Amino acid sequence: MKGHVTELPDFPVYLSLGSNIGNRLYYLQSAVEKLKSHPKIQIQCTSHIYETDPLYIKNQGDYLNCVVQIRTDLQCKILLEEVQKIEEELGRIRNNVRFAPRTIDIDIIFYGNQIINQENLQVPHKRYSERRFVLVPLNEIAPELVCPKTHKYVNQMLAICQDNSTVRLYKDQKETGFE
Ligand code: ADP
Ligand code: MG
Repeated sequence: MKGHVTELPDFPVYLSLGSNIGNRLYYLQSAVEKLKSHPKIQIQCTSHIYETDPLYIKNQGDYLNCVVQIRTDLQCKILLEEVQKIEEELGRIRNNVRFAPRTIDIDIIFYGNQIINQENLQVPHKRYSERRFVLVPLNEIAPELVCPKTHKYVNQMLAICQDNSTVRLYKDQKETGFE
């Protein structure tokens, strides 16, 4: 029940959302709605939506990306399972091709200050610092957040990021319901 939200731990958790097949906006919005209606997740803040070039496999459609700040009392491993359920509900088909097109991808970027190095879960996310499509929206909502691994601010991580791919504000922002 949402009535219990005041009991949630007060450290922030950051999720990165991305979509590049079909109705990308629908998938991002639906993922946010599903996070919102989860009884153990409270959304605190959402970035604007950005349109971004695909990074690793170039001949696929552009992505829409955003970053969401939540609070949750789900353990990180359980949170991963929950976001993977949302990915499945939104029609994501997992195959063995990494970085392949997807209806929705939800990654855990930070889970408070925790550092997790398990086989199926690394937090902070292993590749977030090489991705402008994560850093730009993250910097919009949390520029002075400190990465527990590098001890640098998000704005510093963005300033030194080597990725020069395009990350632009998505034009139809008004229709997103994110503002
Ligand atoms: P990617 O997001 O790297 O494009 P996938 O979404 O297919 O690729 O994720 C592959 C695996 O990455 C997942 O099965 C999950 O176990 C693992 N993984 C490790 N760390 C994280 C994290 N911080 N957030 C989300 N997934 C993670
Ligand atoms: Mg993922």
